[in-house]
Amino acid sequence: MLISLIVPCYNEQEALPIFYEESTKVLAGMNCEYEFLFVNDGSKDATLSILKGLAEKDEHVTYLSFSRNFGKEAAMYAGFTNARGDYVAVMDADMQDPPALLPQMFAMLTSGEFDSVATRRVNREGEPPIRSWFARQFYRIINRISDADIVDGARDFRLMKREMVDAIVEMGEYNRFSKGIFGWIGFRTYWLPYENVNRVAGETKWNFWKLLKYAIDGIINFSQAPLAVASWFGMGMTLLSFIAVIFIVVRKLVFGDPVTGWASTACIITFIGGVQLFCMGIMGQYIAKTYMEVKQRPHYIVAESNRAEVTRIK
Ligand code: UDP
Ligand code: MG
Repeated sequence: MLISLIVPCYNEQEALPIFYEESTKVLAGMNCEYEFLFVNDGSKDATLSILKGLAEKDEHVTYLSFSRNFGKEAAMYAGFTNARGDYVAVMDADMQDPPALLPQMFAMLTSGEFDSVATRRVNREGEPPIRSWFARQFYRIINRISDADIVDGARDFRLMKREMVDAIVEMGEYNRFSKGIFGWIGFRTYWLPYENVNRVAGETKWNFWKLLKYAIDGIINFSQAPLAVASWFGMGMTLLSFIAVIFIVVRKLVFGDPVTGWASTACIITFIGGVQLFCMGIMGQYIAKTYMEVKQRPHYIVAESNRAEVTRIK
């Protein structure tokens, strides 16, 4: 039995040593083989040299170092393609995914009832309330309009069987939204709740705008509902304009009112212009995604690694 731990790292020089110590302790206490698969996602600090140090003194450590920052999704994908384990887990380097949960998760999988054990935070302490509110709305919306069901508070931290990992690697889409992909492929998942843990060191790479963009990407990647919104808008507007035409004609014929007001005309023109641009924007988002998919650029490029046989470009 081999467990692979995929750890995406971007500027994690402070947190990495702590993570390594803690998870090694936990893994050594478990009755199985293990490997670390650290993915250095183009860090600008000492992350890579720390990884090299770890790899030198511990044979359990493998690192892949990207040629630049490709993002956490790409780092996870690189991990999945190169993980050799029968069981594979993705973990953040900042201890927000507690390694102490691993034995419990592993026991649950080996009992055979589930194919993966995923974690979800039951609270969002230490997070700005406005951010939590937006996060809740996001989960509500995406679950309503997409076919990937995503649990509120779900983390990327989960332990999975080989079968699931193979399915994930097979999903080679360029625009990756892992929370959606995990849900989309199915399999039996147990959700393990735990109390939110704050970062041990370093700082988060997310800000509000990045999160908003991530949320919009998630919706566009897993739902066509926004496109339908555009056509509903169009139909509604057409109906409305018919009614308006009848109203104006009748008013003119029956009451003989002269045509008044350029103000209302200006309002209508700008309103319709706005709606049209909005709908075109929605379409544009999908076209942009399609464009990126069609180009079939690689997800990541590995510049160096301490393992000889790795998939360097995929
Ligand atoms: N990360 C990465 N590439 C990036 C941004 C983040 O590999 O471009 C890694 C980061 O090092 C960490 C994990 O993704 O291990 C989660 O990042 P972070 O803690 O900043 O996110 P949060 O926990 O605040 O959602
Ligand atoms: Mg974090």
